[in-house]
This record gives sequence, C-alpha cells and structure tokens, in this order.
Amino acid sequence: MKAGIREFLAEERPEGYYEKLIRDLEEANEKLRMFSVINRELKSGMPFSVKDNICVKDVESTASSQMLSGYIPPFNATVVEKLDKNGFGFIGKTKMDEFGFGTLGVNCIEHPLNPFDERYVTGGSSAGSAAATAVLRHHVSIAESTGGSIACPSAFCGVVGFTPTYGLVSRYGLIDYANSLDKIGIMARSASDARYVFEMIKGSDKYDTTCVDHEVTTEGRRKLIIIDQLIKGVDERIASSFDKTMCKLGNLGYAIEHRSVPFIEKAIPAYYIVSMAEASTNLAKYTGFKYGLKVNDFSKNYNDFFTEARGNFGAEAKRRIVIGTFVRSSSVKSRYYEKALRIRRMLIDSLNSILKEGFIISPTMPIVTPKVDEAEALSPLEEYGMDSITVPPNFAGLPHVSFPSDYIGGMPVGTQLVTSHFNDMALFDFVGRWEEDFEYRFKYNVGAL
Ligand code: GLN
Repeated sequence: MKAGIREFLAEERPEGYYEKLIRDLEEANEKLRMFSVINRELKSGMPFSVKDNICVKDVESTASSQMLSGYIPPFNATVVEKLDKNGFGFIGKTKMDEFGFGTLGVNCIEHPLNPFDERYVTGGSSAGSAAATAVLRHHVSIAESTGGSIACPSAFCGVVGFTPTYGLVSRYGLIDYANSLDKIGIMARSASDARYVFEMIKGSDKYDTTCVDHEVTTEGRRKLIIIDQLIKGVDERIASSFDKTMCKLGNLGYAIEHRSVPFIEKAIPAYYIVSMAEASTNLAKYTGFKYGLKVNDFSKNYNDFFTEARGNFGAEAKRRIVIGTFVRSSSVKSRYYEKALRIRRMLIDSLNSILKEGFIISPTMPIVTPKVDEAEALSPLEEYGMDSITVPPNFAGLPHVSFPSDYIGGMPVGTQLVTSHFNDMALFDFVGRWEEDFEYRFKYNVGAL
C-alpha cells in the first residue's frame, strides 16, 4: 500500500475507486457523523475535506451553526482554490463546534464521534476534520485553529495536526471567529503530507492583507524545553506517557531542559477575553436582515424580530456574545480587554526568547480523551481550562504541531511541539524523524488502494 500524497497522485486508481470510496465513507459517516456534506461527484484527485467554517463554492458552509443554515457561498476560500488547482479533489465539509467555540467537539447538532471508539469525543473545534483524517486512508483535511482547535482533536483522534505561524496562510473565505487569532492549518496522517499541503497553501493573498509572503525556515533545534507550569496538574496517565516520550526523544539525542514562563497561567483568561471580544464583534452582523438565517416576518416589532433571529445561535455562542460585548464596553475595557492584550504581548516576548534556544514540548492535552457523557457534563469554565497547553502558542501566533506519541487504553495521545515564528518547516522535520520509529495506528482505512 502506497502512503503519502505524492505516491497517491502518481499511482493509477482502479476503475470505480472514487465511487467505492464515497460509498464506504457514507457508511462510516452514518456511524461517526463527521461530515455535514459528502461530495458524491468526486471523480479525481487526492481527497481533501474542509472544516465547515471555510467556504467552498456552491456547497453549504455553515460553521455548524443553525444561524448559517442554507448559506451557499458563491466563491471558494483561497486555500480551497489553491488545492483545486493542484490536483486535489474536494470530498466534503466537516462538522465542528459552532463557529469554532469549543474544545471537545460537542457544541453542534449530532456531533462527530471518535473513530477509535464511538463512546469517546473527537475533541474540537475541528472535530470532523480530525475524525475524517483518522477514517480516510488517503486524505488531508483543511482545518482552523483560534486557540487549539487543530491540536486538540488531532491528539484525541491520533493524527498529525499542524497550525502555522499566524499570517502565513490566507484567511480569505474563513467564517471568522477571532481575526487576530484565526489560523488555517492542516490535518494529515504524516508530517510529509502536512508539509506538502502547507507548501501549496501558504503565501500572500490580495484578499487577505494580514497574510504575508515570508521566508519559512527549517532551523532544527537540539534542545527540547519543558515549561513546568504547562505540565503541572496534567492527568497522571498523560504525565507518565509524556515521560516515556521524552525518554525516547532523549535517546534520539535531544537535550531536555525545564523552564518556567512568567504569567503563562494567565494565557487562558487573557485568550478568552480577546477571543470573545472579537467573536462578539464578528457575530454582530448576523441579524437576519442581511446576514444570517432570514426571518421573513417583518410585521413584528424590532425587538421581537431581533430576538427571534439571534435565537438561532447555540448556547455557547450566546454566552460568548454576552461576555465579549461586556469586556470591550468602554467602562471596563481597560480592566479586561486592554490588560489581556498586554498579557499577550508579554507572553509573545517570553516565549520568543525561549524558542531561540530550542523547541517547546509538552503533552497536547492535559487529559485523556473524555467519553461523550463526561464531556457533556463539563461546565463552560472546566472546558475552557482544558486549553491550558494549546492556548499559549495559539495566543502568541506561534507555529506548532500535535503528533501521535502513544496509545492509552486503545485511545491515542498527542505530543505538542512549538517553534519560533516562521520556522514552521522545522516541525515537519522533527515529526518526520519521530515517525521513523513510531507507527501510527488507525482503525479505519477507507479508500485504501
Ligand atoms: N477551545 C478554544 C475556544 O473555544 C479554541 C477554539 C478554536 O481554536 N477554534 O475558543
């Protein structure tokens, strides 16, 4: 069986390959519910799926929100356009936590289930993208991370999840969560596939002025730095699995050091203030007039009309609108929003100085994959707390990758590696080296040649 994009594109597919692929995928989707749309017309190319907050021309794109149900974009996001032009074939839209609001993948109707065991969640918010990658043998998924939405589900579903330096991949066509934090990234079954796609989708775009054509380096580091505050309090099983991983990496010749970073525990509250402030601004346009699900009854008074239209948001979106609007209101702005921005600046500076010396390494998630009922029983604050390790690199716009490093009770465990801005390529080299001695496991191999 040939692995990897290059091999797949070079190989002849047997007659009826795509028809069978779609049939088998539909069957898996009945059980795992990771796709909101499957492209039955797919006839050629390396299959790629797209998180539902990224626009695909003529395909319903809703960010898994009732508010956008029926929205059919008349254009492709830049990433989709680039893949289309390079021999890739769109296979479907993947489900997510509504608008990207969530860590466990359960904030949407009929949320996806973990392909390793359906009693468990996939993680979120790029829930369906991670599950699809764990199901399909030859495939990559285009996902998005604001504060950990690529790393977390990649860890829980046992795939490679790459989040680039902020601004290297165009966000044109993304249904925004928080513009100063959103990054479009990649999920794949190997570092080399993720790299292949990244090389194709990065680069400036006249439609996204925050996107740059910056040189991307491959500066390897021989030192791995563990930030003690990040691993404090992680689940015991995760801690001992991480020790095992560090032992293996030590044997590969990496030096290991411990550090602490001032204020890193403030990353979570600061991130949630900034992201909710931006999210509440972005969601303000969905009023049912020009944007959002249309309420066609104009006989009502304005308040009733508005309440009905905004009722199409789910509970977590409403919560974020209320908190986000509060933290940026003029009377408290300096106490919350501006303070959070200062914390972000300090964090970027201290992480940058550490990253000059080595990679920052940690488990991706502080917990083992939760079961669906456990996830649904968590309070919002408990759920936000699960982002303690994935938020710092995201808040600082730093490139990072989660790769499968162990299996506990049959469920995958991820390790997170972070490097300096624009040194993204070094992550692929590191994970590629890891893959030489560690075999990823998958229960599904839909579309295997
Ligand atoms: N869990 C984080 C949040 O809810 C991250 C989500 C994301 O990266 N889209 O904000």
